[in-house]
Amino acid sequence: MGKTTGFMEYKRQESPYRDELERIKDWNELNNPLCEADRITQASRCMDCGTPFCHSGIIFNGLPSGCPLNNLIPEWNDLLYHGMWEEALYRLLKTNNFPEFTGKVCPSPCEGACTLGITSPQVTIRNNELAIIEKGFEEGWIKPFIPVKRSGKKVAVIGSGPSGLACAEQLNKVGHLVTIYEKADRPGGLLTYGIPNMKLDKKFVKRRTDLMEKSGITFVLNTEAGKDITKEELLATYDSIVICSGSTTPRDLRIDNRDASGIYYAVDYLSSNTRSLLSSNHEDGQYINAKGLNVIVIGGGDTGNDCVATAIRQGCKSIRQFEIMPEAALERSSDNPWPEFPKVKKVDYGQKEAIAVFGNDPREYNISTKSFEKNEDNQVIALNTVKVEWSKDYDGRFFPREIKGSEEKYEADLVLLAMGFVGPDRSLVEAFGITLDGRGNIKAEYKNHSTNVDKVFAAGDTRRGQSLVVWAIREGREAAKQVDTFLMGSSNLP
Ligand SMILES: Cc1cc2nc3c(=O)[nH]c(=O)nc-3n(C[C@H](O)[C@H](O)[C@H](O)COP(=O)(O)OP(=O)(O)OC[C@H]3O[C@@H](n4cnc5c(N)ncnc54)[C@H](O)[C@@H]3O)c2cc1C
Ligand code: SF4
Repeated sequence: MGKTTGFMEYKRQESPYRDELERIKDWNELNNPLCEADRITQASRCMDCGTPFCHSGIIFNGLPSGCPLNNLIPEWNDLLYHGMWEEALYRLLKTNNFPEFTGKVCPSPCEGACTLGITSPQVTIRNNELAIIEKGFEEGWIKPFIPVKRSGKKVAVIGSGPSGLACAEQLNKVGHLVTIYEKADRPGGLLTYGIPNMKLDKKFVKRRTDLMEKSGITFVLNTEAGKDITKEELLATYDSIVICSGSTTPRDLRIDNRDASGIYYAVDYLSSNTRSLLSSNHEDGQYINAKGLNVIVIGGGDTGNDCVATAIRQGCKSIRQFEIMPEAALERSSDNPWPEFPKVKKVDYGQKEAIAVFGNDPREYNISTKSFEKNEDNQVIALNTVKVEWSKDYDGRFFPREIKGSEEKYEADLVLLAMGFVGPDRSLVEAFGITLDGRGNIKAEYKNHSTNVDKVFAAGDTRRGQSLVVWAIREGREAAKQVDTFLMGSSNLP
């Protein structure tokens, strides 16, 4: 522990967010980094506690507590406090292939489990992580890793999201020749075509995938496995295949007039915006545009928030975000104690921007959309809703009950469905003859990752269901270890 009294002397200081009214004028990232001296001060707040939960990655009540990657947080905080940036970097890279992604987009279950959080604001773990990796890039400490000896084994990874990238990087490290097949025109999965640029600038995704290419990993883009290249071709060419194809089937809302135009899945809306931004700085006009429109986002989660922020930047006329669940408490409730992931109300960046622009939080809670209305041109014009209240059934499960007389109509020109995902693309699953589990995800045990098809493994959202970048990296690493063991009889991969 670097400074025994750091947590008593210094206040938590996050990397500052740019002013809401300024940042909505562009697509650049939301935060500015702290200077090095302030960052070191923040690291000194880590108490290096005897039983740190921050790096435990335990699941409590279905949510992770502590870092799912088991990042060695107290260790690198201590090194950072002592100014030993390079040593901190190597400690960080032991467990996390891509801290530059998690350092920006991770919801930080580590911070929810930080011991200091029991009495004071937690250590800025995520910001510290980002500062360490960025210093590594700045100083040129991060270099391509070309293995001294190749194993002679070839592996195909399907999908270039964080699970596929982590899996490929680990397998390359131990000498296997890896080819990543990606159906999109750019690599990165949802890092590129889900998470908006202001949360994760795509130049950082490119920086990483360029580095991986220089390390000997091949990216084959615009190629859909199961269609452009068949299962038989893949099995004949590669010693093993890892499916990291994500959970890409969005949950639909099958209500009256769902066929109206102007109703889109959130991920289609967000990806069209990013693709156009990257290709032409929006000059090609090839994106779903909210300019001048009344926008309603159905789904109160993080993806919905990304839609709110995107619509505001495009210049929407109004924005609302509907959530069927009740509003969360402002502080932990007694049945959600430390070190569980805190289930508390968060006002995310998009909602803050909506407050700055329109004067109010765009979220409506306990609201269910019953039908859409459309005009004679088949364009959506309104939503009909009803309020719900939540009760418990005999088994203690919560269910919504509609409140009579609470029906309302909301004008809408653009509706974005941000209600999550229900599993992997069925065409790939069918092409490979893969068995699914009861939730509709690819059936493969965690930490084993093999599917019902010989030589074929699965990792990330496609196996786990819709999740987080940090879990995708973890799964990619675990799958790589299993594939290495399958190919070589044993594995030294962590
Ligand atoms: C809008 C949005 C915002 C999010 N924000 C956050 C956030 O802030 N923080 C966070 O931690 N998580 C966030 N997530 C979740 C996170 O992005 C995912 O959990 C993570 O990307 C999953 O990684 P993955 O590698 O398993 O799959 P993905 O990232 O989905 O990548 C799968 C890739 O496989 C490709 N593919 C699919 N089928 C084929 C095929 N047949 N052939 C070739 N390629 C194929 C797809 O094109 C895709 O590129 C967000 C998700 C969304 C939708
Ligand atoms: S990856 Fe996420 S949970 Fe792990 S240390 Fe970083 S911010 Fe925390």
